[in-house]
Amino acid sequence: MKKNKKIKLKREIEKPIKVFGKQLKLTRVLLILIVGLIYFISLYFEIRTLTPLIIGIIPAILFIIALIVYQNRIIYFGNYSIECSNAGDLYLTKLKGRCPTCDGQLKIVKKFNTEYIQCQNNSEHKFYLEVN
Ligand SMILES: [Zn+2]
Repeated sequence: MKKNKKIKLKREIEKPIKVFGKQLKLTRVLLILIVGLIYFISLYFEIRTLTPLIIGIIPAILFIIALIVYQNRIIYFGNYSIECSNAGDLYLTKLKGRCPTCDGQLKIVKKFNTEYIQCQNNSEHKFYLEVN
């Protein structure tokens, strides 16, 4: 793993995700989705039709996405990403950076307490994080 080069990664967009003017917190999202899932599951046991399970797929998928964000602190949707700050606030961001080795797009990898930049073309291209 080559980590001796310092690469600049630019946040082109950094927008706090707000609901009703309030900063969205990841823990709140997880709680709401858990409540939603329990609601749909209990509704299924009550009315015994598949409809609540089918509708319940939506909070289930969102819950999985929220869990990934909780674990990795970042999730990518094409050019955009949702990042979670240390305080648990959610941000919509767009990161831009080019790999100095092969000119590929760079992305942030967050694992446990370490963060580094990785090239999307070649996972061997890894660099220290220096976000502007
Ligand atoms: Zn590269």
